[in-house]
Formats: sequence, structure tokens, C-alpha cells
Amino acid sequence: MKASIATVSVGGTLDVKLEAIARAGFAAAEIFENDLLSSPLPARQIGAMMQGLGLDCAMLQPFRDYEGMPADQRDAALERMRRKFAVMDDLGTDLILLCSNCSPHSSGDRQQALDDLGLLGDLAASHGKRVSYEALAWGRHVFDHRDAWALVRDLDHPAVGLTLDSFHSLARGVPSASIGDVRADKLFIVQLADAPRLEMDYLNWSRHFRCMPGQGDFALDDYAAALCKIGYQGYWSLEIFNDRFRSTSAGQIARDGVRSLKALHERARIRLGEPAAMAPPIDPERFEFIEFAASHEEAEDFGRMFSALGFAPVARHRSKDVVRWQQGGINLVVNSEPEGLAHSFDMVHGGSVCAIGLAVEDQAAAMARSEALDVQKYEAVIAPDEWQIPSVRGVGGSLIYLVDSATSAQMWADEFPLLQKGASPRSDLVSIDHVAQTMHYEEFLSWLLYYTTLFDLSKTPQLEIADPMGIVYSQAVESRSRNVRFTLNGSLAANALSSRFVQNYFGAGVQHIAFATPDIFAAAGHARDAGLPMLEIGPNYYADIEARFALDPALVARMKSLNILYDRDGETEYFQFYSRAVAKRVFFEVVERRGYQAYGAANAQIRLTAQAAHRDPAEL
Ligand code: MG
Ligand code: MG
Repeated sequence: MKASIATVSVGGTLDVKLEAIARAGFAAAEIFENDLLSSPLPARQIGAMMQGLGLDCAMLQPFRDYEGMPADQRDAALERMRRKFAVMDDLGTDLILLCSNCSPHSSGDRQQALDDLGLLGDLAASHGKRVSYEALAWGRHVFDHRDAWALVRDLDHPAVGLTLDSFHSLARGVPSASIGDVRADKLFIVQLADAPRLEMDYLNWSRHFRCMPGQGDFALDDYAAALCKIGYQGYWSLEIFNDRFRSTSAGQIARDGVRSLKALHERARIRLGEPAAMAPPIDPERFEFIEFAASHEEAEDFGRMFSALGFAPVARHRSKDVVRWQQGGINLVVNSEPEGLAHSFDMVHGGSVCAIGLAVEDQAAAMARSEALDVQKYEAVIAPDEWQIPSVRGVGGSLIYLVDSATSAQMWADEFPLLQKGASPRSDLVSIDHVAQTMHYEEFLSWLLYYTTLFDLSKTPQLEIADPMGIVYSQAVESRSRNVRFTLNGSLAANALSSRFVQNYFGAGVQHIAFATPDIFAAAGHARDAGLPMLEIGPNYYADIEARFALDPALVARMKSLNILYDRDGETEYFQFYSRAVAKRVFFEVVERRGYQAYGAANAQIRLTAQAAHRDPAEL
């Protein structure tokens, strides 16, 4: 697969864009004409720069409103095109994109369209150029790639071929199987973009909401498999119009672009039964541990919270200032080492989660996958007799450790000799249900891509949650076993809780950890009795759920006394309660699922409003 990207997809000036594109590993870039027009550098210099960067120019784009126009306008367009050829020579490309005509002055006469495309083909051929015709979803007469292909096929001109753009095809629901009718040698270029399913006009949907393959809702795997099946060997070129992307670092977007294309191509190959070209996505078996970076003082704050939730400090690291808290299958590790990553993390963020350990079956394959997708590794400096656990960078500079599932018990035994005396954990909490991470809205799709390409985690639909101070976007990624679940949250509203978290915390990070319990009432009762600072839920909420779900008033009274929230989906039920935040950052949740598989989004607004009540007046 030859990876390319349109310069419109990334932010910055054209030279900055091209450098980021080259550094990320793309073979080529499409030059978006507006980027060229707004650049102070002449086209020849851009062409030379691309050559210096080792980037091919895949195409100049776009050329608009040509076929089916009155004769005088057609002739003027041909003259315009002639001038483009000189620019293309400077850029070093022989290919130009022609969008299907949107003009109300254009004719829908098919023969005229064929004649006009023939004239353009002759002109292009006489200059050693080629034209690639694309059906825009909002084209006046041609808005379906099957019609664009039929024109290209019937014209059968060597200088006129087809552009397929997944947005235009999939927004209109054109079946991907129809790609099977296209001849690979006439398919001059393929543009790829995903998008969320939205009810809006095609033009605005396309201009503002396109995203990388895998970040949206389109069935791109089918589309990509159909391309592979016809033997298409040309560029897979990302064309992503998205305002959010242009406001993010060009380097990050370009790296994400390569990652999304590699993962898409691999999924397409596997769908066609071809052998895998890279290690499979990591399917984590469970959360092995959560590591907190904390000074001694912060460690005491966490310790009080953990004790109230039923955890006990069962072990100390044999040589480091690190304590293992345990309950059920949950390990919480508090790292107070005076140096190392946890310490620098604590210096920047304050006491918080600095790493997450995930148990995996094959560490080597997991690291090979991260290598193939250019995910940054982290090598800790350790003593020669310590267990080396490979790790990769995660959200907000934290780490994800990939713990060998088969030997994890031995690792704990070697590194953390059990304390002989001390309190035993309760047995209220059995496992980590989910970890909620909060980030800048601009980073949201980037981390979604990270979790769904590096890992075998699938995403749930994106939700919009009302915070008292603005909208929060939330989306979950889950392993097939559902033993590992993350929820990602981001907001554009400066004062929404998630945004203030990011500001106060100096970056993205873990905002809450949810533990699973088989008995929410026992867990909440014990936690309250042990002095857990609970998030208090007001009486109106309980009056509402009693009426809404026709709940037994005695049950509602029990929930109210323990600040337990409730949701129901069909026959399945969800119970949850929250702690107050430690140091205004991380807080804890306890959930009981009775078949329910979501995250209580209906209660999120209640929780956010209750949390807002604990804000400093100075923060409002
Ligand atoms: Mg396009
Ligand atoms: Mg939660």
C-alpha cells in the first residue's frame, strides 16, 4: 500500500505540512490548490522541496465545474486547465483531480459529458498529463461513483480515469461491492476518509466532519477490501477536511494518518484471507494493575481512599518506595520513588495515575504491533535482577505496561514480597470495570485511533453529555471479553469538568477508575462506614427514577441513603456510586452490572452537577 495524504488534511503552512507528512512516513502528498495559492513559495520551490523530502506529488487538486457547461465556459475552463499543467510540471505530477460538476448551469446530457471529458483528455494527453474524475456526493448530475465510472469506462480515454473517494461513496450508501466493476488500471487514485453518521447536508458533512479511517462510523474495511480485490496498486490517499485536525499539531495528525492507513490495509487483507503482514492487534486479557505516582503526602490521601473502599496494603516493592494495594483481582500500585518516571509525573501533574498494566498473552507480538504502528516505546532503567516489563506511551505521557499474563503471579511474588502483618482487604470489589480518561477535545480522535489500532478494542457510539458548563463528548473502547474497557472524554467548553481537569492537571489523564462489585449495597455500605467521602446525590434524582422506572420505593430509599445511581436498558440494570475526588483530580466509581453493558450515560449529568457543587468558588 502506497500511503499518501492531501495537504488539506493537516494544519500549518504548506512547507510545515509537507515536512510533517514526510516525517510521518507517507510516500506522497496531494497538493490542495488553496494551500499552494496561500504559500509564499513558488510551485517550483514546493516541487523541489517535496523531492528533497522524498515525497512524490500524487496529484494537484481540485479542478471544478467543467463537464456539461455552455461552449464558451467550457473553452474558458480548457484554457484554465492548460495553465494548471505548467503548475503540475513544477510540482512534479502528471495527475489532476476533476470533481463532478456542481454548477446549476451544467447540462445533464450524458453525451455532452462524454464529449467534454474527451476534449479534456485530448488536451491532457497532448501535455503528458492525466485527469482523474470524481463523483462528489453533492454533484449536480453525477453524484454516485458508479455513474462516474460508467462515463470513464465508456469514454475509454487513456488520459481520463476515475477517482474513488470513500466519503462520497459511503455518505450516499453506494454499495462497496460496486467497486468490483471498476478496472484497476482506470482507477487513477483512491481517496480515503471516514466520518461519523450525521443527518446533515453532504457538503457540510464532508467539509467539517471527515476523519481518519477507523475514527468514524463508515464501513471502510469493506471498501478497502474491495479495492484490494480488484488489484488496485495506486495510492491510498487520505483526504480529511476537519477543522479540529487543522488546529492540532501537523506531526500528530500525519502520524495518525499513517497509523490509520496501515491498520485499514491490514484489516482489508485479513478480510480477503491474505496472510497477516504485521502482528495482530493486542487483545488485553485484563487490567493487571493501575500505578499511581504520589509523594508521601499524596500517598496518604490515596491510602485513606483505598482503605475506605476495602483495599489493603499487602506488599512493598523489595527495593523501591512502591506499595501494592490489593482487593479481589485488583492491584493498585502507589509509587513514591524520589526519581524515575513516576516522580517526574508527580512533579508535573500531582498525585495521579502514571501507568496502567494490561495482561497480554504474547508480549513480543504486542511490542511488534506497537513497532509496526510507530507507537513510542518506553524503556525504564531497572536493576539487572528486576522484571523487565515492556511498555508503550499512552494518554498524556502515561505508560501502558504489557504484562505477561502467564507469569504475572510470579512477577508479583518476586517484586512485591507480601507483608506478614497488617489489615486484609475486604471482598467487596472484584475487578477494574473501566478506566475513564479525559483529554483535550482535539486529541480525542487521536486516542480513539490509538486504542482501536494498537489494541483489539472496539468502539461504542459517541455520546454527548451535558455538563453544567458545556457539552462533553464521550466514547468507550472495549475488549472482546469486556474485561478491559476505557472511556474517553473530551470537551470544547473551557469550564466543563473535563476541560478543567485537563487545565488543572496540565494535560490528559485518568479521571476516574471504576471497580466492579457483585453487591453494590454491601460495597457502598461498607465504604460509607469506613469513611469514604461519597459524592452526594440530591433527592430530585431519586423521585425521578422511582417514577421513571417504576422502582420499589424501599429499593429507592436504600439507594438514596447510599448515593447509588441507577440505569436500566431493557431487562438489564446498572448501579453505581462515586467517591469525591482526591486532590480534585482522580475519583473512584463502584459499579454493579446486572447484564447491563453501557456506562450510565443517563446519570453522567447528575454526577457532573454533583461534582460541580464541590468546585472552589474561585474556579467558577
Ligand atoms: Mg475527494
Ligand atoms: Mg464511569
